[in-house]
Amino acid sequence: MSRKILHADCDCFYAAVEMRDNPALREVPLAIGGSAEGRGVIATCNYPARAYGIHSAMPTARALRLCPHLTLLRGDFDRYREASRQISAIFHELTPLVEPLSLDEAFLDVTEVTRFSGSATWMARWLKEECLKRVGITVSVGAAPSKFLAKIASDWEKPDGLTVISPSQVDDFVRQLPVTKLHGVGPATAKRLQALDIDTCSDLQTMPLERLLQEFGKFGRRLFELARGIDDRPVRIERERKSVSAETTFASDLPELALCYAELAPLCERLDARLARHGHPPVAGIFVKVRFDDFSLTTLDSRGGLPDLENFAALMEQAWARRARPVRLLGVGVRLVTDDARRQLSLPF
Ligand SMILES: [Mg+2]
Repeated sequence: MSRKILHADCDCFYAAVEMRDNPALREVPLAIGGSAEGRGVIATCNYPARAYGIHSAMPTARALRLCPHLTLLRGDFDRYREASRQISAIFHELTPLVEPLSLDEAFLDVTEVTRFSGSATWMARWLKEECLKRVGITVSVGAAPSKFLAKIASDWEKPDGLTVISPSQVDDFVRQLPVTKLHGVGPATAKRLQALDIDTCSDLQTMPLERLLQEFGKFGRRLFELARGIDDRPVRIERERKSVSAETTFASDLPELALCYAELAPLCERLDARLARHGHPPVAGIFVKVRFDDFSLTTLDSRGGLPDLENFAALMEQAWARRARPVRLLGVGVRLVTDDARRQLSLPF
């Protein structure tokens, strides 16, 4: 029996909360993000801002060059967390099987839900209506038999979208899908697929498993399955997040340390954007991850360090010196304060 998975994703969430609470902001280009002077990045922006080419993870300085009259807010994460909590409560009225991905995004497994005659389409419609009515936020929802298709579906008709991919539609839908939409296909993999003349999943389906394993290692099997709409990952109910990170595998190895420095700034920007998506959780320390051309991996932690470019550069230098070889992958991340540690901190003596 096939599953019914919903992916719910609020439309420009932080900006949506701000526009809800101050309707004068609806018609003007609006972004939530760090300051240009502090080398901050855009966390979210509304659609009028997107018309200027602004998007999340873009450096704020560049956003202000594209749109000098942009309304820039620092963000009120207490208010965003509260809206997120209300929306999550609505999800839980439908099913306990909710997997949050960030403050504004979650997977729901509604396979066993009997309300709405078991119709995933009606459930999706109800979720959208309730979130708008009770929280004042529009949510785009995708319904499909798997996580990766549900996520693509929620993005298909954004904003205020509702896209359903029923089991009988999966084959046709997947065939026309560009491979860049597949879960786990980043810029490096996309480039290599393009070099093999593979643009859509229909192209990818012509590649034998053997060949994909040769070209992409373990990920080759995943590509083989995704190209056929197969994705058995279960919806996992909430577990504590212990770290947030961003990493890049380079299309060709970086031969020396000097080139690694240049890659650090865009990585830090992606990490900043990701931290904003998680509502800026308290940070216990930072780490860098380096994979060398011989596939050896080293991770170096700094307890209490703050996630800024200087600290990451110093840490990367030390990590690199451990083997001093060409670099295949670089990652930067933060360790989060665990719930346990937080509880202990608040205990009286
Ligand atoms: Mg969103």
